[in-house]
Amino acid sequence: MKYHLITLGCPKNKVDSDGIETLLRTADYRVTDSARDADVLIVNTCGFLEAAKEESIGVLDELARRKRKHQVLIAAGCLVQRNGAEVLRRVPKVDGLLGTRRWMDVLELLGMIRGGNGRRRLQQYDLLGDAPQPVPALLDDPVHAFAAATPRPSLVTGSAYLKISDGCNAPCAFCTIPSFKGKLRSRPLDAIVDEARALVDAGARELVIVAQDSTDYGRDWGEPNSLPRLLAAICNHTDERLRWVRLMYAYPGHVSDELIEVMASQPKITPYLDMPLQHGDPRTLRRMRRPSRPETVFEHVEKLRRAMPDIALRTTFIVGYPGETEEEFQGLLDFARAIEFDKVGAFTFSAEPGTPAAALPDQVDDDMKQARYARLMEQQQPISLRKNQAQVGRMLEILVEGEGEIEGSREPLLLGRSYRDAPEIDGLVLVPGAGGVAAGEIIQVHINGAMEYDLVGELLRGEIFPSNRAAIEFAV
Ligand code: SF4
Repeated sequence: MKYHLITLGCPKNKVDSDGIETLLRTADYRVTDSARDADVLIVNTCGFLEAAKEESIGVLDELARRKRKHQVLIAAGCLVQRNGAEVLRRVPKVDGLLGTRRWMDVLELLGMIRGGNGRRRLQQYDLLGDAPQPVPALLDDPVHAFAAATPRPSLVTGSAYLKISDGCNAPCAFCTIPSFKGKLRSRPLDAIVDEARALVDAGARELVIVAQDSTDYGRDWGEPNSLPRLLAAICNHTDERLRWVRLMYAYPGHVSDELIEVMASQPKITPYLDMPLQHGDPRTLRRMRRPSRPETVFEHVEKLRRAMPDIALRTTFIVGYPGETEEEFQGLLDFARAIEFDKVGAFTFSAEPGTPAAALPDQVDDDMKQARYARLMEQQQPISLRKNQAQVGRMLEILVEGEGEIEGSREPLLLGRSYRDAPEIDGLVLVPGAGGVAAGEIIQVHINGAMEYDLVGELLRGEIFPSNRAAIEFAV
C-alpha cells in the first residue's frame, strides 16, 4: 500500500509527520510523491493563522476533488485539533481525523476505516479528544519508541528537528496555539537524548531544537530552566558526528545565565539563537501580554554577545497589532535598529478568532500593516547585509544541503548553510563551481562575498570533502 503525506506549517509539524511516516513504514506502507498513485492521502495541517487554515483547507479540498474510490483521505494536525468540525463541514470527503496528540494512532484509524466501521462514527471526535488526551499509557513517550526504532524520513540533508516539548503556558493575546496544543508538556530528558543519538546514527550532523517555547523546558515538572541540562546531556551523550545543536524558539525572559553559559562552553551548540520577540515597544508588548521590558532583551543580547562574539541572533516581529500607533511602530523600528539582529522575520497581525487580540479595539487596516511590514524589512536589509559582509574572509564550516546550477551556465553551484543559518528560514552559502559533495556533508568554505541574506564562498585547494581542517592550505 502506498501513502502520500503533505506536511504544512512549522518544524514541529514536520516532527509529527516523521512519526506518522515512521509508523506507516513499519507497517509496510511505501511513500509516493504522486497523490494519484496513493492508497492513503494524509495532510498534516496548520491552524496557527487564518491564512494557514485556508491553505490547509485548500490542500485537503484539492485532494478530495481528485480522490478515487479506494483512496482514504485523512486530515491531521493543528487545524484538526483547533476545529475538526469545520474541516469536515468544508471537506466532507475526509474519511478520518487525527488530533495533534493522536498522530501515533494513524494505523489504528486506517484499520477502523478499512474495517468499514462506517465513516460517520469516525468523524465524531473520538480520535480528536475535545480535552487534551493523556498520551496512551503503553508509550510514556510515543516519539521515543519510533525514533529508537527507525531513521527519520525527513533526515535527508543531515539536519533533523528535535522536538523537546509540546504545548505552551504563555498568555500571548494573539496566539491560538495554547487553545489546541494545550499546556506545556516537556518530553522526558532521557527520551530526547535517546532520540538525538538515534538521529545521529541515522546521519544527522545538525539537530535543531524546537518547541513552542524551548526555554520553558521542564517547568511542567517544577524544574524551570532545565534546558541547559538537556542541551549539555545531548552534547555529552552524542559522539563527534554531531556537529551542530541549534536552539530555536527562545522566549525573552527565559534566557538564563546558565543557558548562555552552556551555549558558550559546549562546542556542538551553534552560536545562534532564535528569540521571537514580536515587538519592541513596551505599550504594544503589554497589549500583546508579552514580557514588556525591552531592557531585559538588551541585557540578554549584551550577555549573549559578550559570551559568544560571533553569535547570530534571529527574531520575529508582528506589525500592525491592534492599537499600534505610529509612535509605537517607531518604537519597534528604533528597538530593532539599536539591537541590529542578524536575521529578522516579520508578520502582519492576523486577528485569530477566539483570541483576546481579535476583540481589541483600534484594529489596524491592511494597507497600514503592509506599509509597516515594508518599512521594517527595508530598515533590516542593510543591517543583514552589513552582518553578512563581516563574514567575508572567514573560513566557515557549511552543512551541504544540495547542488544547483548557475543560471545561464552549466557551472555547478553548491548550496549549504553555515552556523549562522537555520534550515528553511534563513539564508544560504553559495559555492559557485563546486559540486559532487553529498547533502549532509560538512565542509570548510572560504567566504569571499556577501548579499543581504546569503553568503558566497569558495573551496580552497585540496578541499573537497570530508572537511578535514588539517588538509587545508590556506590560500589567503
Ligand atoms: S509563546 Fe509562542 S506558542 Fe506560546 S502563546 Fe506565545 S506566541 Fe503562542
